[in-house]
Order: sequence, then C-alpha cells, then structure tokens
Amino acid sequence: MNTLSYIIERIDQTLLENPGITVTEGNIIQDGYDEQVDTYRQTIATAKQWLDEYMNALIQASGISNLKIKYTAVSGYFIEVSKSQSHNAPKDWLQTQTLVNSLRYTTSELQDFQSRLQEAQQHMSEREYELFWNLREDILSHFDDMKKQSSCIANIDMICSFSQCAYENNYTKPEIHDGYDIQITDGRHPVIENLEWDFICNDLSMKESEYIHLITGPNMWGKSTFLRQNALITLLAHIGSFVPAKQAKIPLTDRIFSRVGASDNLFLGESTFMVEMQEVAHILHHSTQRSFVIIDEIGRGTSTYDGMSLAWAILKHNHDRIQSKTLFATHYHELVDESQKLSGVKNWSVSVWENDGKIIFYRKIIPWSVKKSYGLHVASLAGIQDEIIQEARDMLDQMESTHNTLPTQQMSLDNIPWEFSWCSSKYEQKIKSLDINSLTPLQALETLAKIQSDMK
Ligand code: ADP
Repeated sequence: MNTLSYIIERIDQTLLENPGITVTEGNIIQDGYDEQVDTYRQTIATAKQWLDEYMNALIQASGISNLKIKYTAVSGYFIEVSKSQSHNAPKDWLQTQTLVNSLRYTTSELQDFQSRLQEAQQHMSEREYELFWNLREDILSHFDDMKKQSSCIANIDMICSFSQCAYENNYTKPEIHDGYDIQITDGRHPVIENLEWDFICNDLSMKESEYIHLITGPNMWGKSTFLRQNALITLLAHIGSFVPAKQAKIPLTDRIFSRVGASDNLFLGESTFMVEMQEVAHILHHSTQRSFVIIDEIGRGTSTYDGMSLAWAILKHNHDRIQSKTLFATHYHELVDESQKLSGVKNWSVSVWENDGKIIFYRKIIPWSVKKSYGLHVASLAGIQDEIIQEARDMLDQMESTHNTLPTQQMSLDNIPWEFSWCSSKYEQKIKSLDINSLTPLQALETLAKIQSDMK
C-alpha cells in the first residue's frame, strides 16, 4: 500500500482541491508547492495594490495631484500628466509620448514592475503545466505497483460483496465436482427472489442419462426464470460465490451458453430472427459435453412450422452429437411427443391448476409435459377484454376442428402439413419463374407434365 499512500500524498500536496478544468491554463497547483508559482501568483495578486501605492508615492514626490498610472495593450503601463502640470515632472521620469492635452512618462521602477507582471502572467500557466506533467510522469512510474494493488483491492471488494450478498440473501456454499450430475435443491433466481415476495424455489436434478430437460409451457409460467436461475447458480459457483439454493452440487463446467430473450441488430441489417439463429449457431459450434446451455423459446421469430422444425432439429442435434447439459424451454408442446424418441431428454413443465376455465400457475417445475397451450388464459390475465378472448376462442375452436382431421389431435412433427409450408410455395415459385415467351408449346406441355407428376 506504500505506493498508493505515496501517490495520494503526492496528489494532495501538488494539486488544488478544485483545480481548473484545462490543465494548460493554470490554476491547478497548490500554494506553497513551488516557489516560482508562488512568486508569480504573488506578483499578479498584488499588482493593483502595488500600482496604487506607487501612484501615491509619485504624487507625493512630484506634487502633481492629478497624475494617473494607466495601461494600454500597445504602450503597457505609463504615468499620465496633464500638459499644465508637466513642468513639475521629475527629471528622472522618461517621457514616452506627447498627446494634445497630456504627456506620458515611465520610470525604471514602473518598467521593472511591468516586466515582472508580464513574466508572471506568461510563465505561470507554463510552470503549472510543467509541474502537472512531472506529477503524471511520477505516477506513471509506479503504474505496475498500482495495478497490482488495485487488483488486490478489487479482489477484496469482490470477496466482501460475495460475503455480504450471501449473508443477506441466505446463500449456501456450492460443491463443485469433477463428475457429471447437477443437483440443485430449492434453487432461486437471485434477482427475481427479491422482487417476488412469494418466490417458488425449484430443484434441478440432471443426470448423465438425461442431459436435456425439455420444459414446455406457455408464457408467464416461470420457464425463463428457471433457466436463468440455474445458469446463474452455475456461474456463481464457478466464480467463487455462494449460491441461492438450499444445496447445490455443480459439475465443473467449461462454458455457459445462453440463448434467451429477443434482441436484434436492425441497424446492422440483422433481424430478431437472424440474431436468434446466429446465437444458436454459436452455441452449436462451441458447446461441449461439459457445457451448460440454456435455450429459451427458440424459433419464435419465424412462422410456427419453421420455428417448430428448427427447434426440433436443434434439440436433436444437441442430443445426438453434443450432449451438453441443456435446459430447453419451449411453448411448442408438440415437441414433447417427438422427443419421446430421444433417450437423453426428460420432460418438465410447470404445475398448473385448472378449474372452471380459470387457471393458476404454481411455478413449480415438475416432471410432466403440457399438451395444451394456455395462451388465451395468459392473454386474459394480462387484461385483454373478454369479448376479444371469446372471439379468439371461437377462432381457436375452428382451427382445432380443422386440424382434428389430421391423424392425431396433438400436432406432432410427423403430421405437420408440409404442403402448406413449403411444397406449395416450391411449385408456385417454379411456375412463377417460367419465361413463357421463350418456351415452345411442346416445352410448356412437358414442364406442366413434370410439375404435375412431382406434385403427385
Ligand atoms: P416464462 O418464461 O414462462 O414466460 P418467466 O420466467 O418470464 O415466464 O416468468 C414470468 C414472471 O413470473 C416473472 O417475471 C416473475 O415475476 C414470475 N416468476 C417466475 N418464476 C417465479 C417463481 N419461481 N416464483 C415466483 N414468481 C415467479
């Protein structure tokens, strides 16, 4: 700490408490720090007093009661005497100018004073800047020491903050191990728990055989909170903090990846969906079996079928190839059926109580899966008017009855009507791109026959 004390003392001794803003314009160095600066200041500060006293002395000596000491930028300081009194001017005064009604003089004392004042004015800021520069150089020569000491203080600060936070929020010491399993009991979100007075704790138990947890459920069920709290607990454990949980066993993790929320770089020409896909691509390229990954609501930025298909393919790739520990939240409850084929996936959802058309979310993550979207309930909770909800319900009934003609009531990825999504548009594109004018009647007929046979 010697270096820091030295630097603090050095700054205290050198600089004014409230120095000027521009370092080249003076008014930065303490009084008493430098003899030269003090003399300059003294000269400037006492200039007026010196002039008054000198003028009075001249009046006494010469008897010219109305003489004045004046200043112009061109002539500097001079003594001005009216023509009628000029015969009283002492011989040792040096006449410098004759005007219509007056004469101007100077003396060696006045000339000395003027050069001292000019020197003070010109050199004071230079001298102050030079001293400031020396101070900077001196501080810079202690830079390595300061860096070490500030890093030491930062560490102490971090540990104190961790301790205070752990103490105030009832955190526990996590256990980090070389194995695979995650076991978090009564985990909490470190921020939301301070906002929600009735925060519901949740466990996360992830074994090597079930490394992907597919969490289904619509908005507002607490899925994102659950994902983030587990990522945060893993992070806190790795950076040396206690964690918001009753107990936590965390495996050594190489990286934490997260794809959450909606953001975009529109100004860089990247849409929300583009950003979403870029983030997912980054995760798929860089995550390993020892990574912890949270993916929240992937595929929302595009059409339902596109989004759902992508979500499924991403889930499957991670399952088959990467096998990172993944919490995968989605409102596509259709993924549940499909994921039954994947041995490493376990289904979770949020406990919910439904009674007489009313719904209560418990925000307790439990091992089950929803086969239903509760979007209308959430919309209603959010304050959308009853008649709009009713209209939406009618529309939903209609659409569900249309889809009921499909083999199963739950839409699985096998029975997505692909024709709607891309087949029809493929043929449409083909027809649109034909240059009719350049086709012979025979080529036109052949093209039509080909399209028809492809479609069949
Ligand atoms: P989802 O991702 O399912 O849309 P969120 O995680 O965004 O839901 O949660 C919605 C809101 O519910 C949060 O802002 C928070 O206020 C509340 N919430 C979430 N999880 C809990 C919980 N475990 N206990 C209490 N409130 C919660």
